[in-house]
Amino acid sequence: MRIFFDAIKEEGLRWDGDVEINPAMIDAEIASTGDAHIKIEIFPVKSYFRIKGTAAGEIQLICTRCLEEFSYKYDIPFDLYLVKEPLSGSEEEIELKSDDLDFSFNHGEYIDLQDVVSEQIALTLPLKQVCSNECKGLCSNCGKNLNTGDCDCKKNEGDEEHPFAVLKSIKIEKKL
Ligand SMILES: [Zn+2]
Ligand SMILES: [Zn+2]
Repeated sequence: MRIFFDAIKEEGLRWDGDVEINPAMIDAEIASTGDAHIKIEIFPVKSYFRIKGTAAGEIQLICTRCLEEFSYKYDIPFDLYLVKEPLSGSEEEIELKSDDLDFSFNHGEYIDLQDVVSEQIALTLPLKQVCSNECKGLCSNCGKNLNTGDCDCKKNEGDEEHPFAVLKSIKIEKKL
């Protein structure tokens, strides 16, 4: 979805609808992205544009521990400034930086809502992409998904042959 700057009048422009998310802009293991339902208002402010709105939807991510798909739901507000062309006066740049607002440059003739919304979703992704905080992940030995039950490796854990058994006997001395 493209919104041309020329179409944005003094009183602003409202739009709501579905925008396809660009998976390339989201730094995560993604199974599928789907659409984001967005509601936005765009206003011209001096030499830039303010984009205010919400994006809601669901992305299918892949759990970094167990590699199963899980659904990540989002419903995020955003409020950012978009500069149509690089600002010439350095004073104004400083003024913008001191504000606690997002702003970015746009050199084209239009705003690409797919890019804007995909970026906002990417910013809100949790640092740990796990299906649940309790996810047990995969056994590092046999690869079984431990959420579905223990594997045979676990039964042998106390075994002296186990490569990590030696770690249990190591004492860590605290330096004072
Ligand atoms: Zn998991
Ligand atoms: Zn195992």
